[in-house]
Amino acid sequence: MSEVSTGPGEAGVRPRPGGGQYPDYRLGEPESGSFYGRYESGRGVDYYEADPNLRPVLEGHLDGETLGWAEERLGALGERAGHEISHRADATDEANHQLVRYDRFGRDISEVRCHPNWKSNLNEVFDFGLVGWNHDEGLLGRYGRAPVPLLTAFDYLVGQAEASLCCPLELAHGTVAVLEKFAGPDLRERFLGPVVSTEAADRMQVAQVATEVTGGSDVGSTRTVARRDGERWLLSGEKWFASNVDADLIVTLARPEGGAEGTRGLAMFVVPRRREDGEPNGISIRRLKDKIGTIGVPTGELILSEAEGFLVGDPQEGFRYMAEMLNHTRYWNAVGSLGIMRRSYLEAAVYAARRRSFGTSSEHLPARAPHRALVDPDTDRLHKHHDRHRAGRQLRGARGRRRDGSRPRCPGRGPRAARRRRALPADRAAEPALPTLLPRGLPGGSGVGSPERGGRVGGAREGLPIGRGSDR
Ligand SMILES: Cc1cc2nc3c(=O)[nH]c(=O)nc-3n(C[C@H](O)[C@H](O)[C@H](O)COP(=O)(O)OP(=O)(O)OC[C@H]3O[C@@H](n4cnc5c(N)ncnc54)[C@H](O)[C@@H]3O)c2cc1C
Repeated sequence: MSEVSTGPGEAGVRPRPGGGQYPDYRLGEPESGSFYGRYESGRGVDYYEADPNLRPVLEGHLDGETLGWAEERLGALGERAGHEISHRADATDEANHQLVRYDRFGRDISEVRCHPNWKSNLNEVFDFGLVGWNHDEGLLGRYGRAPVPLLTAFDYLVGQAEASLCCPLELAHGTVAVLEKFAGPDLRERFLGPVVSTEAADRMQVAQVATEVTGGSDVGSTRTVARRDGERWLLSGEKWFASNVDADLIVTLARPEGGAEGTRGLAMFVVPRRREDGEPNGISIRRLKDKIGTIGVPTGELILSEAEGFLVGDPQEGFRYMAEMLNHTRYWNAVGSLGIMRRSYLEAAVYAARRRSFGTSSEHLPARAPHRALVDPDTDRLHKHHDRHRAGRQLRGARGRRRDGSRPRCPGRGPRAARRRRALPADRAAEPALPTLLPRGLPGGSGVGSPERGGRVGGAREGLPIGRGSDR
């Protein structure tokens, strides 16, 4: 894979159209002691090593033994994320995906031809254990599963390379939570293993599908119907928004025939893309969405035509289960937004450290005052340390246990607050990076184009800040 350069060329010279070279007045040697001046750009960087805050934050949340276990893995993932994964993400971002709706015989195959880099990145992070470790009871001996702050750190590193990856990860985490909490033993037995698998061949990717054209906030207006057919449920209807749209399993809502109006009549179902005999299960992809935001993860519209679904828990509690799933997906969405913020910061800080104007490095210029806090390593360390501690506390309270081992009293509020605090500010973090990097408004190769777009829609994906839908 060729190295991607964000600068005009080798320091000191730039190729000139038609031959020759311009002397380069823009780039200079970084000043000694400049923390970010050692890098060329926000790619080709070990994201764990380049982050002066992450380890101290983790020290505040994990005991030495767990951190010891994690350190090598964090280093390995930080290195992969900053190199191969972020390079692959650049190529996906430029290429987009293609829907192949019918095969040559006219059969509906609804296949998304994804850019191979997207699949490689997806498989790499799932194989690495980012979801599997959340389910592996024996992983850390007496600790059981990997603690949430640790998984958060892994997800945060991945989010810097390709924020899109945080979407399938969050969907898998949410599905695990719902299956574990609400599904019967048969469903758990059948689907949990594949959702958390670290083997690509056995794995099932998941989509969480609630939004219909009648409303994403107003979920109570859902029109998809579930019809009882002996022991089976058959679902028919149209879903307007599904991220990870080519997933092997969708978690969705439908109204059992004769069910009550509004959210009270909605049941939750898991619907595999293929039936047990391998035949298609009546799920078509009508079209892919032309999104402003994250390009990596394909998002589209679904048509369910008598698709066989498996009822999760109580048929009158579907909306509550979906809200619970949203609490989990929102948490991980918030972590993805932290990754976007960090990447934007890194790109701006590196650029400012290398850029020379008015005879000095841009990181010292008063005209860049709004970015001083952004580029000064000491300010950075203090500010981010404090901020992440606060966010970490909030997120940990939202999702995991407190330090004394107790569960937070009201698990629903934290993730919503965390998502509000993180997903929404992500666009604001990318925003100040833009004038630092793009004085002429040229996003190509700057490294912030994708984080900036991802940050803008990060909040929209999860619906209303106050919680999706009211209980009507
Ligand atoms: C990138 C992306 C990915 C997505 N992926 C998925 C997915 O995987 N699965 C899925 O189910 N959905 C997905 N969605 C859809 C998303 O959940 C909905 O867009 C969202 O819930 C809003 O619903 P809506 O689009 O119908 O807008 P509306 O519900 O019509 O809302 C439009 C605007 O009105 C505001 N609004 C609505 N009701 C109220 C109210 N009562 N009070 C105040 N303001 C209100 C909303 O905040 C919003 O700003 C995705 C969306 C995006 C952008």
